[in-house]
Amino acid sequence: MPVSLISDLYSEVILEHYKQPHNRHELPDATLKEQGYNESCGDDIVVYAKVIDDKIADVTFTGRGCAISQSSASMMTDVLQGKTVAEAEHLIEEFKKMITGEKEFPEEGEFEELAALKGVIKLPIRVKCATLAWNTLRLGLEKSELK
Ligand code: ZN
Repeated sequence: MPVSLISDLYSEVILEHYKQPHNRHELPDATLKEQGYNESCGDDIVVYAKVIDDKIADVTFTGRGCAISQSSASMMTDVLQGKTVAEAEHLIEEFKKMITGEKEFPEEGEFEELAALKGVIKLPIRVKCATLAWNTLRLGLEKSELK
């Protein structure tokens, strides 16, 4: 497949999540709420999670931002739903390695859709957009562990 077609395909996944984000709403009974802001782009996000018995029973987000930040947040909520806190923290680290090019995106499995963000690897300034929701959730998880 020519490179241009591949990137078109990827941006389609991104635009789909941007136009119709998954889990984009407040979570009234959240046990964790954390705000994240990406100065370099203006992305503004709030991540909510309901952690019960060390498990992420629900994770949602609200806020505004570019297509990369919003679609990455949408995909993150899909991937981390139902995971244990330890699994989620591991996946957050894995994603950060993939988005900075340190590690390959898997071609199948739960990270398959996230590979749509591959193009970002070459644009370090957009890495902040792609990791905003993930870093925000990790900060929220760290804070709630201290309680
Ligand atoms: Zn952005």
